[in-house]
Amino acid sequence: MSETPTIHALDDATVRRIAAGEVVERPASVVKELIENSLDADASRVTVVVEGGGTESVRVRDDGVGMTAADLERAVEEHTTSKISSGDDLEAVGTLGFRGEALHTIGAVSRLTIRSRPRSGGRGHELAIEGGDVGEVQPSGCPPGTVVEVEDLFYNTPARKKFLKTETTEFDHVNRVVTQYALANPDVATTLEHDGREVFSTEGNGDLESTILAVYGREVASSMVGVGEGSTIPPEGGEAAGADPDAAPVASVSGLVSHPETTRAGREYLSTFVNGRYVTASVLREAVLDAYGGQLASDRYPFAVLFVEVPPDAVDVNVHPRKMEVRFDEESAVADAVRTAIREALLDEGLVRSSAPRG
Ligand code: ADP
Ligand code: MG
Repeated sequence: MSETPTIHALDDATVRRIAAGEVVERPASVVKELIENSLDADASRVTVVVEGGGTESVRVRDDGVGMTAADLERAVEEHTTSKISSGDDLEAVGTLGFRGEALHTIGAVSRLTIRSRPRSGGRGHELAIEGGDVGEVQPSGCPPGTVVEVEDLFYNTPARKKFLKTETTEFDHVNRVVTQYALANPDVATTLEHDGREVFSTEGNGDLESTILAVYGREVASSMVGVGEGSTIPPEGGEAAGADPDAAPVASVSGLVSHPETTRAGREYLSTFVNGRYVTASVLREAVLDAYGGQLASDRYPFAVLFVEVPPDAVDVNVHPRKMEVRFDEESAVADAVRTAIREALLDEGLVRSSAPRG
């Protein structure tokens, strides 16, 4: 630059669009935020309908608590949430959302419509936002619960729209997201439809095996082995180190993993949930692979649906909204718990040899 640059403030609309990019990268990110809202609203049924891989439209319907007209207005403002009230609550967030920015930011980069009616009674209302312009709340004849529809994502941010991949690829991402939430919540009947076709539909009967059957099919479901029904290990050091034997365990592990021969080339079928939240953590993935003790073909990954429960203050989930990473206070103890639980399950079924696991 030849001249000294002048520093100036960006206008609000530009700031909003930049911020939106932090939360919303592609249709799958919209789907993630909307499903989380439905689950936080105590839904027992969540239906996701997408067109054009989600680039044309994403619609998420739930039978959750719903919103009043006043709730609707507040919901789309910036940093408004019903889920935490102060910074102190950040230490133990019990809901999937808490930043209060999803609806606001999605509305800044799409045409968004919310229709909602409180489950507890009262009339339905709707509110539309187009590229950040919030309309008036109107009466709407909708059933109890909430429907959020997002059309033409990034229509007003062409630079971002350019980064979207083909509809097929975008739909793959959407499918992965919906699959993770369906697996994490076997008690929620979850349906995914794409371009008028049902992709899967879970029963919502609370049974993990029938949920896996619905999303992954019979071949995979019949090869799954139950893990650890809440098996726990003592905190690091254990009793020998003088630890309190009544202290909460570091981690409890449960779920299902596949026979070592039922694998795929991609890691996306290896799902780990920490305190009910889908996470990607290399420490957990490595622990799962280790448990198979070299019995997996190289570059193959098993199917796994694993629930790891740790005390809320022993894990940091307050990381970047778009990433699904976590940090554990006692990483190696958590890894041990996962490895041991899976290894025991596989040994019980005679699916691995009892030699020491690799690593
Ligand atoms: P956050 O989830 O972080 O609170 P959002 O922008 O996603 O922020 O949502 C803002 C608020 O709107 C939520 O706190 C909730 O009160 C309300 N809300 C959003 N979606 C739903 C829904 N599907 N059912 C009921 N209330 C909802
Ligand atoms: Mg939210």
